Amino acid sequence: MSEKKWVYLFHEIEEAVAVSNGDWELVRGLLGGKGANLADMERIGVPVPSGFTVTTEACNAYQPNKQFPDGLWDQMLNALKDVEMTTGKKFGGNENPLLVSCRSGAKFSMPGMMDTVLNIGLNDETASAMIKLTGNERFVYDSYRRLIQMFGSVVLEITDEAFEEVFDGYKKQKNIKADTDLTTEDLKYLTGEFKKVVLKEKGFDFPQDPFQQLKFATEAVFRSWMGKRAVDYRRATDIPDDLGTAVNIVTMVFGNMGWDSGTGVAFTRNPATGESKLYGDYLLNAQGEDVVAGIRNTDPVQKMSETMPEVYKQFLEIVAKLEKHYKDMQDVEFTIERGKLWMLQTRNGKRTARSAVRIAVEMVEEGLIDKPTAIKRVTPDQVDTLLHPQFDAKTKKKASDEGRFFCNGVNASPGAAVGQVYFDADTTERMHKEEHQDTIMVRPFTKPDDVHGMLASKGILTSEGGATSHAAVVARQFGVPCVVGASAVKIDLDKRLMTVGETIVREGEWISVDGTTGEVYIGKVDMNAPSLDEQTDLLKLLKWADEICATPGIRTPESAGYPTVGLQVWANADYPKDARRAREYGAKGIGLCRTEHMFFEPERLPSVQRMILAKTSEERTEALNELLPSQRSDFEGLFEAMDGLPVIIRLIDPPLHEFLPSADDLRDQIITKRVEDMANYLLGKGESKDVQKLEKLLSAVEGLHESNPMMGLRGIRLSIMMPEIVEMQVKAIMEAAANVALKGIHPKPEVMIPLTGHINELKVIQPRLIAIAKEVMDSKNIQFDYKFGTMIEIPRAAVTAGEIAGDAEFFSFGTNDLTQMTFGYSRDDAERSFLLKYVEDGILPKNPFQTIDRDGVGGLMKMAVERGRAVRPELEVGICGEHGGDPSSIEFCHMIGNNYVSCSPFRVPVARLAAAHAALKFAPK
Ligand code: PEP
Ligand code: MG
Repeated sequence: MSEKKWVYLFHEIEEAVAVSNGDWELVRGLLGGKGANLADMERIGVPVPSGFTVTTEACNAYQPNKQFPDGLWDQMLNALKDVEMTTGKKFGGNENPLLVSCRSGAKFSMPGMMDTVLNIGLNDETASAMIKLTGNERFVYDSYRRLIQMFGSVVLEITDEAFEEVFDGYKKQKNIKADTDLTTEDLKYLTGEFKKVVLKEKGFDFPQDPFQQLKFATEAVFRSWMGKRAVDYRRATDIPDDLGTAVNIVTMVFGNMGWDSGTGVAFTRNPATGESKLYGDYLLNAQGEDVVAGIRNTDPVQKMSETMPEVYKQFLEIVAKLEKHYKDMQDVEFTIERGKLWMLQTRNGKRTARSAVRIAVEMVEEGLIDKPTAIKRVTPDQVDTLLHPQFDAKTKKKASDEGRFFCNGVNASPGAAVGQVYFDADTTERMHKEEHQDTIMVRPFTKPDDVHGMLASKGILTSEGGATSHAAVVARQFGVPCVVGASAVKIDLDKRLMTVGETIVREGEWISVDGTTGEVYIGKVDMNAPSLDEQTDLLKLLKWADEICATPGIRTPESAGYPTVGLQVWANADYPKDARRAREYGAKGIGLCRTEHMFFEPERLPSVQRMILAKTSEERTEALNELLPSQRSDFEGLFEAMDGLPVIIRLIDPPLHEFLPSADDLRDQIITKRVEDMANYLLGKGESKDVQKLEKLLSAVEGLHESNPMMGLRGIRLSIMMPEIVEMQVKAIMEAAANVALKGIHPKPEVMIPLTGHINELKVIQPRLIAIAKEVMDSKNIQFDYKFGTMIEIPRAAVTAGEIAGDAEFFSFGTNDLTQMTFGYSRDDAERSFLLKYVEDGILPKNPFQTIDRDGVGGLMKMAVERGRAVRPELEVGICGEHGGDPSSIEFCHMIGNNYVSCSPFRVPVARLAAAHAALKFAPK
């Protein structure tokens, strides 16, 4: 058997493609994103320094025993020989030494989470050779001290501070401001000092053998895959642990060889706004980490047109070619070595929600991608972010007028955040997790070690760094509002405060960060929900999403009656104003109007209570007659708002005690009244009647008491025991529909009966209600379509769905109750007591009240659809539990053959995109 291939030279890309059966995703899995793209760039004629990639498989093989797998080292040595041939340089050679970088590169980019070592191959001997060769002693010592520092911290695990102390201390002592002001002698001295740091910390000398450097650095990158920050990052982004990282060994090119050299990073479009304009930073006479770390202040990449016009022209051509090749916005790293441009990396750029939408839409309009690709490029979470609150111009002005403006900086990641300030990642995380505070993390700049704090923040503020600094890139990726480079801010980490001039903000105080404009205010600034109308790109994208869902044949029917189009999105709305918003947001119907909410309105509650306390059916009907006109006008408003679209109105569901005061409150009131009465009696005043009234109410409340009301007299059971309520409701629904129909509006009422568990329940109540509907239509002399259906929210209803569909014309999954009853977890208490721990400990993969448990609850749903449609093929099936707005649950509803999902109006845009994602994922090839 031939030996396993662990190493691919960049020019061996075709071999990697062949073992991956031509699937580029598998190539990326094998070589990592960076390695695959470096090789690919070389293939399409972009200048890339010579190099090779150690596969992710090698990384995985290393992990169990922390040992190179057989053959790996020899293959690396052979590949190195190839690089030597191509470059004419020799690794460890004392004439024209080859120096290489060793960089991590997983399948999915994890910016800054794993390790990199540059300038490998430098030692005392090769350093002299380099000086002879370049005549640039300063550059060589600058590179050497960087190698010792990086190798020291990454490979030998010496703290950064050990080197920084020496470096910063020296700069301070010599009064040197910028790193570029360090002289050759300074750097030579620092190189020596850094060697001493290694000896002191480790007890041995910095390794002079280049091969040992290379081997150790590769191992360190392998190890960094399992390092805490990489693991944390993978948890937050759902990247599996078993992918492993590749390691790229690339010939060093130097941006720090003088003022005709430089290095930079750029995005082919603006990652914050999506504007189609090159966006990036560069630095002359510097190495890559200086730009990315955000430590030195950079220049915009456009400035290269003045400093290096020829290189800039070539750069523009290359990035245009790369964007066309990958058909997506690219994030590139480049270095110019003595006037020669080299591309060191290209990848699809991370972007904000706003930018993702704009880029996707514009690329369709430019003919670069098709609509399905554009839809797939935007995540439901990103749509959610765009509908999140923003600061209001008025309240910001007010804050300004009150002198609360604090500072401004680069608007690195848009959105509004209000929170309490903390100056380090650990405290930020602790205050968020343990104290449940809204937090804003403030740092001079961030490093990969700070990511846990960034994830726990509502917003981020840094005083240093630019638009491509670590803070900016990570904040954008996670959608956390962020302002960077607010240089007026002085942070005192010891005193735990920051200042701008005389103004001081201490740890724990509130600030408001506007990541959209880059402004920061002291205290809290009010926020507003943004209007969808103004987001024209998003509207276009959502229209395309709807078109995809409405395409006949996009879904393959399981059997008769199953939809051939994708899901529609409806909304849960109780009031006309919510229905109007839902319609504006693109809802195609109302999937749930919870009528009982209308009973709670102050002017109605007394009638509701009279109805509950009635002794006779006549008394009850009298009280209900008082409620009928207001219910009817509520429904008229809904039908008007949803003219021509279905409106599902659910009959009363909760147990009646919810409409009455609690027994404890009543007892308190009775005691207070008694004391008052006693005083009045002593003063010779008469006894009040209030006590008797309260006592009557208390005994009614006690009479309604149930130990387990969620399983008690509610839903259809209540309708059977007290049919007058639902009879009034159906009358109000039908009269409202008739009234609006007479005005030329097209009502489509669907009456939904909650909590059915047995077909006989429906058989008792539904015919009485249908008779009322007919009576109303006859008396008003008008016809319109209507439906009667039921919620499926009790496991027994799902199992006996075939019987139930004999009478019900539609099903709507009440997955809140269905989850509660399937798991036997109280939907009101489970999260508080054990459920969150279950999720944290992995006992349950997700919170089942947020995301449908596909195997259990979902299994019942699937069965219900199959059994229901077997009896009534045209059965309309929807979902109105909270899961209706959750992307994974929406996908599941698509899979089992729902006609629609229904969610809160604000989630409708998110659900429209998620529905299109599901449709595309399962579309016939
Ligand atoms: C449900 O149970 O999922 C549902 C929508 O009804 P409610 O939340 O009102 O019980
Ligand atoms: Mg319910």
